[in-house]
Amino acid sequence: MKSIQMVDLHSQYLKIKQEIDNGIFSVIETSSFVKGGKVVDFQRNLEKYLDVKHVIPVANGTDALQIALMSLGLKAGDEVITPTFTFIATAEVVALLGLTPVVVDVDFDTFCIDTQEVEKAITPKTKAIVPVHLFGQNANMEEILKIARKHNLFVVEDACQSMGSHYIFENGEAKHSGTIGDIGCTSFFPSKNLGCYGDGGAIFTNNDVLAEKITMIANHGMKIRYYHDIIGVNSRLDSIQAAVLEAKLPHLDNYVKSRQNAAHFYNEKFKDCKKVITPVTSSFSTHSFHQYTLKLVDVNREKLIENLKERGIPAMIYYPIPLHLQKAYQDARYKAGDFPVSEHLSQCVASLPMHTELDNEQLNHISENFLKIIADC
Ligand SMILES: *Cc1c(COP(=O)(O)O)cnc(C)c1O
Repeated sequence: MKSIQMVDLHSQYLKIKQEIDNGIFSVIETSSFVKGGKVVDFQRNLEKYLDVKHVIPVANGTDALQIALMSLGLKAGDEVITPTFTFIATAEVVALLGLTPVVVDVDFDTFCIDTQEVEKAITPKTKAIVPVHLFGQNANMEEILKIARKHNLFVVEDACQSMGSHYIFENGEAKHSGTIGDIGCTSFFPSKNLGCYGDGGAIFTNNDVLAEKITMIANHGMKIRYYHDIIGVNSRLDSIQAAVLEAKLPHLDNYVKSRQNAAHFYNEKFKDCKKVITPVTSSFSTHSFHQYTLKLVDVNREKLIENLKERGIPAMIYYPIPLHLQKAYQDARYKAGDFPVSEHLSQCVASLPMHTELDNEQLNHISENFLKIIADC
């Protein structure tokens, strides 16, 4: 059996080696390393794939979120609502821009922002909502859009983990994750659903005015070279990363299917185990299983993870501490106990290996050992 990893990028590479190698070498041959043809090619292909008007490539997912927020013309002290159970980048950029992150609890089933809690957190200073499509499943966007329209708020989707998944509207219409709010942001970090071989990210929007502003901000605030109309940053996707992404984009739907198959395998194996709650797929979203995250019920998590490791099975905790309990984000507004669902999740979640290259032998080994080990934890 191949050794088991949380993410197996090397096996994935070997399957498309020729496409990747050709792409990278063609960039080196043309020596067009930034803003080259490859970046524009990928940009157009991704627009087509997502069915969105504008894709603006940037240097990483955190930059994507920062630039998206910069484009909204917010002022210091404006409030941005985000879930407290997420990766830090979501709130980090809000704080860095001098805006005020307002965190709310998440829904126990889906790990995504609880829309009723969003409504309660709105004040006259609220300007935007940043839902996070955590672990590959979309937040309840229709509900979020309703709240946003009612209170005149922007919606910036953090789609860093949900590339390739669809939001399904009540009328049955499906749209790609990240293309539903005013702006969507994603990351091409190697382990993400669509990952490059370094850092990368992108911003999506159907709004022409925002697209123009975002493009300028990502490029030192200029449209004409050396004429800086607004304050910007330097955030570009480089051509080598674009070449990798261009080679991988045609495989993304199959990658998502592989993840879903692996998740289905685990779900079937664990369905009678009383010590875990398997991932819940909501009615309004497909699930791209960026992570396969279980909720443990009365289990010694440390012992479980330790024992899995001894059998060559890695497991991770995403995320062990919610934002409002992180040292850097502690303030007078929040204390332990304020967001019980997120706090409980951070104590009981565990993610198993999830990637595109898991074969049945590995999946069987992981699940059989998991069931044996958890019985004693
Ligand atoms: C990965 C990730 C980011 C940041 O992306 P980087 O490319 O690592 O900067 C932001 N939000 C979420 C939810 C992520 O998973």
